[in-house]
Amino acid sequence: SLGLLVQCRPGFEADAGQELQASAARLAGRLQSQPQSGFVFLALDAPQPHDELRRRLDTSRLVFARQGFQVLAVIDDLPERDRLTPLVERIEGFQERFSAILLETPDTNEGKQQSGFLGRFGPLLEAALTRSGTLRVDSPHLPRLHLFFVGARQVWLGLSLASEGSAWPMGIPRLRMPKDAPSRSTLKLAEAILTLLSPDEQKSSLRPGLAAVDLGAAPGGWSWQLVSRGLRVTAIDNGPIAASVLATGLIEHLRTDGLTWRPKKAVEWMVCDMVEQPSRIAPVMADWLATGRCRRSIFNLKLPMKKRHEEVERCRNLIDQRMRAAGLKYVLRIKHLYHDREEVTCYLTRR
Ligand code: SAM
Repeated sequence: SLGLLVQCRPGFEADAGQELQASAARLAGRLQSQPQSGFVFLALDAPQPHDELRRRLDTSRLVFARQGFQVLAVIDDLPERDRLTPLVERIEGFQERFSAILLETPDTNEGKQQSGFLGRFGPLLEAALTRSGTLRVDSPHLPRLHLFFVGARQVWLGLSLASEGSAWPMGIPRLRMPKDAPSRSTLKLAEAILTLLSPDEQKSSLRPGLAAVDLGAAPGGWSWQLVSRGLRVTAIDNGPIAASVLATGLIEHLRTDGLTWRPKKAVEWMVCDMVEQPSRIAPVMADWLATGRCRRSIFNLKLPMKKRHEEVERCRNLIDQRMRAAGLKYVLRIKHLYHDREEVTCYLTRR
């Protein structure tokens, strides 16, 4: 590999870059990034075998990367007419086999203009690579092939394992807005569940009859995700909860302070979307877990500040301190989701 390319929300290149550099401490390389470009490239000083790079850097743990792949080649002079022939030739030259093709662009206005081309190009490339045996959709253990188009003439080619990156091209899930959910932020919790929990974790923890608490619940988009799966929800907020959510009969609404309120009985879930300082939220979340008030939690850390990567690491440490003090092993997954703006979403549970 020539290096690692990670895709991020435009405007978050500095955070994605700092995080990448900190995680790749044992790799000699140089960061290349441009503000608002929607991606960052870590160029290795010397090419590395895929497995070696994989051992040294676990891309699945990166917070600010929506998607990432090892770069095999960069083409700067794609012809305007027949792009298929040179691309197929180049891809065949890698002497690799792939389980899937991901056609991607930066998540920018310029990137979006390519979607028409990608829609026509995808089936042609798929057919050509299937014919030659390079694409084998029935072998999911094989790496996935990424084609990342930056403008009309440049494309980055690379690969990732399914376990390293997002299942969705560009890390963007196409989620439909449920018609009776009261706010768009409902999609944030929907994406968090799909991204941060394994299918088994989803099945065992999001079952009818289980209890949940939603801190900062109004108008009820997150609560809606939980009640629509049959959970009973205690919604904490001084603001009003939408009638469509209350109508499910599965909600109890308490107008009180979410930072200090605690349940009498332990619950399966505590979720939290309160707009408060991250360094105030993180210890409260860890405390719920450490004292056994909930078994798992999904929460947002709002990051309106400049140094978002630093703030996330600060919160990670606060949580670690609290869990260590309680002598507990834990799982903490943090991601800047597609539906997150100036915030990241975390999943915390005891191991
Ligand atoms: N997740 C909600 C949804 O999907 O509809 C949106 C939550 S909104 C971003 C943040 C909410 O947190 C606001 O309704 C606000 O009243 C509430 N909030 C902020 N600080 C709070 C606190 N200390 N206690 C309770 N609620 C709080």
